[in-house]
Amino acid sequence: MEVTIKKAEQMKAKPDENQLGFGTIFTDHMFNMDFSVEKGWYNPRIEPYAPLIMDPSTMVLHYGQGVFEGLKAYRNQKGGIQLFRPRENFKRLNHSNHKLCIPEIDEAFAMDSLKQLISVEQEWVPSAPGTSLYIRPTVIATDPFLGVRASHTYRYFVILCPVGAYYAEGFNPVKIMVTKDHVRAVRGGVGDTKTMGNYAASLYAGEAAHEEGYTQVLWLDGVEQKYIEEVGAMNIFFVIDDELITPALSGSILPGITRDSVLALGRSWGLKVSEKRITIDEVINAHTTGHLKEIFGSGTAAVISPVGELKYGDTVISVGEGKVGPLAHKFFETIQNIQYGVTEGPEGWIE
Ligand code: PMP
Repeated sequence: MEVTIKKAEQMKAKPDENQLGFGTIFTDHMFNMDFSVEKGWYNPRIEPYAPLIMDPSTMVLHYGQGVFEGLKAYRNQKGGIQLFRPRENFKRLNHSNHKLCIPEIDEAFAMDSLKQLISVEQEWVPSAPGTSLYIRPTVIATDPFLGVRASHTYRYFVILCPVGAYYAEGFNPVKIMVTKDHVRAVRGGVGDTKTMGNYAASLYAGEAAHEEGYTQVLWLDGVEQKYIEEVGAMNIFFVIDDELITPALSGSILPGITRDSVLALGRSWGLKVSEKRITIDEVINAHTTGHLKEIFGSGTAAVISPVGELKYGDTVISVGEGKVGPLAHKFFETIQNIQYGVTEGPEGWIE
């Protein structure tokens, strides 16, 4: 399929690269493509960034049949633009599509059309340290219909926004709160997809955590509320003695691409790496007995987020005396250097 390109007549002024936040400034163009049962995916096009005009009965607005992805393009040392494991994002998008009864998108085509969009918007990829171009591929159900069933029509779109350095004030440990009152997802549900409702379901506990001064929620499993799952928008790692542990993918955890990268690098360094079920009690006990060395989160936004404090009920543990642990630091530096082309990563990670 050929992507048609319609350029914007007027380009926006580029923002100051040192003042970039997250998710508020969008580029001049976007990618759009539609689906119908008769035509399949059709009319792929790059056109001026513009509001979507939708019937108020559009299905995604009512039943949340929609999925998205999040990845970044980085300005490398030579001034070129590179993506970090982007094909993994399209693979995960299709996994989300599949579980939400949305027709799959050809991954090679999604990749090619993304590259075309980025090429049109290349001047929007910032180069100040730690900045990047965040990419948000999204699929929404577009039938104007209030019955509950899978839609027959869809829109796939990709929007781009230049984003600032996550750690503008330094690589500081965050505080997270374990919630006992709420669950994010259950086994057999859609916790392993990036569907909109998962984020809606996380807000209430997130707000409660913010009110207590914590940045994110650490979710426990939805059945017994014993086993650790993941943080708001990150996967979670524990260093207990010399073992790097992350919860095994249970079906209710989002399989993070940063998580997978940490596991692959850790194994390549010869670390003892385990994906297994781990309870919150085990973590608290490991802390009490002096075996818990580090906790950190992994995700596209921050790469690695060291956790300095964890609250569970009335128990508050502080990890690493407010300092960033050596493994969190090593993973952060290594992955970031690969993303910005300072060093070469494992084969196929950059394109
Ligand atoms: N869990 C959730 C719920 C997330 O939203 C994210 C961010 N995509 C992650 C984990 C981390 O995934 P990734 O490393 O692919 O960004």
